Amino acid sequence: MNDQDPPGKAADVRPGRLTGNEIAANFADMHPPLTPSEAVIDADRCYFCYDAPCTTACPTGIDIPGFIQKIRSGNLQGSALTILSENIMGGMCARVCPTEVLCEQACVRNTHEDRPVRIGLLQRYATDAVFKSGKQLFTRAAETGREIAVIGGGPAGLSCAHRLAMLGHHAIVFEPRDKLGGLNEYGIAAYKTVDEFAASEVEYILGIGGIEVRAGTALGQNITLQELREQYDAVFLGFGLGGVNGLGLEHEQLEGVANAVDYIAELRQSADRSRLPVGRRVVVIGGGMTAIDIAVQSKALGAEQVTMVYRRGQEQMSASRYEQEFAQTRGVSLRYWAKPRRFLVDGARVRGVEFETTQSGAGTWTLDADVVFKAIGQKATWERLAGTGELLELREGRIAVDAERRTSLGGVWAGGDCVYGGEDLTVSAVQDGKLAAISIDRFLRAGA
Ligand SMILES: Cc1cc2nc3c(=O)[nH]c(=O)nc-3n(C[C@H](O)[C@H](O)[C@H](O)COP(=O)(O)OP(=O)(O)OC[C@H]3O[C@@H](n4cnc5c(N)ncnc54)[C@H](O)[C@@H]3O)c2cc1C
Ligand code: SF4
Repeated sequence: MNDQDPPGKAADVRPGRLTGNEIAANFADMHPPLTPSEAVIDADRCYFCYDAPCTTACPTGIDIPGFIQKIRSGNLQGSALTILSENIMGGMCARVCPTEVLCEQACVRNTHEDRPVRIGLLQRYATDAVFKSGKQLFTRAAETGREIAVIGGGPAGLSCAHRLAMLGHHAIVFEPRDKLGGLNEYGIAAYKTVDEFAASEVEYILGIGGIEVRAGTALGQNITLQELREQYDAVFLGFGLGGVNGLGLEHEQLEGVANAVDYIAELRQSADRSRLPVGRRVVVIGGGMTAIDIAVQSKALGAEQVTMVYRRGQEQMSASRYEQEFAQTRGVSLRYWAKPRRFLVDGARVRGVEFETTQSGAGTWTLDADVVFKAIGQKATWERLAGTGELLELREGRIAVDAERRTSLGGVWAGGDCVYGGEDLTVSAVQDGKLAAISIDRFLRAGA
């Protein structure tokens, strides 16, 4: 097979494909908030089911009929307290949870009217009111004098730190990046969380007190797990997944091939999106949320042709049917049952991909591309964690934990994307952090 394919047109990757106003419109709030009358009408649609299936479907077990009832009676603060007591990131989860496969899928209104109560938007309605008022709803229990190291300031770490602070402990959050929030700040699609919401939520969480942040510090670089175990009463690991899976194809490192998560992080931190370079023809390889997000956001920045290619079928995609349809309505083409066979190369850069069908009667076909995004999953970067992986029991490259989020190593808990068996969702990371904090508290009190 030739390394160099016949030259195509020069790659067309440049900023400013759309005007600033057009880009701003494309990145506007995906689900604008409910007005007060809309919220009351939707709250009235709830049956307040006794065995609320919506609550069972919520990974953090929020009392959904309970908070909806409080919206109905105009008690927004009480409603927010019901939500945030179970899920301190209830504001972010109201924006980013795939409710269509969680609480809203379980809502009994679906069977009666084919339309669930809009739980996500109601949750946002209640929590936004409290964030706007700046009212701190949580206080700390009496100081215990115990210090717990929390590794990572993402949803798992912050949820753990907040619950520990509520229980009277002192949480020290180690975070290498400048900003806290993890993928809420650097990963979630920009149109799901507008107006710096991730940062204001972090501020609210820290507002309880008792949480110390050590920015610019990383496990593996500044401190080891053994040192943490010696210096603190307990350790929580919530460092997420820092690496991305590769395709294992030749020329993957050439210009023209990029990691979707890196580009999304740049996009999220960009003060002026019209300055971001965008390809005219973009190919996205993958079938999850990250793939959907990079495809939709490339289109929103002005890419003319965006094609997402997934190796299996529509049903197997980890992105929900709703998300797939959302991408299609935003102009993204979806192609199933194909995987990349080789990159087409022109000089020192990639200019397209040859795919092979993964179903019987295999054939090949090609797509020209100015940029190819890899979005085929993330993995832990054990090589950067100074022997942490060797101390812990791992399963499929992630940390094995029990129901209380205890690892195999005494005094060490873990949660979020870095643990095995999770959902890789913000809401699951928050639940992991909360359960770990409750377990740590029980452990410390038992040994006190
Ligand atoms: C592009 C993208 C879009 C997504 N969209 C959605 C969505 O719409 N809805 C949804 O529910 N979920 C979504 N997710 C998944 C969700 O963001 C994650 O499941 C969630 O953020 C996991 O939280 P975490 O705390 O485990 O990890 P992270 O959010 O990754 O946070 C880990 C933190 O640990 C820090 N860290 C890393 N290494 C170290 C170290 N060595 N020492 C100390 N700290 C360290 C990191 O800097 C980071 O702050 C998306 C994910 C991606 C990648
Ligand atoms: S399932 Fe639907 S109707 Fe029943 S309590 Fe939950 S939101 Fe209300």
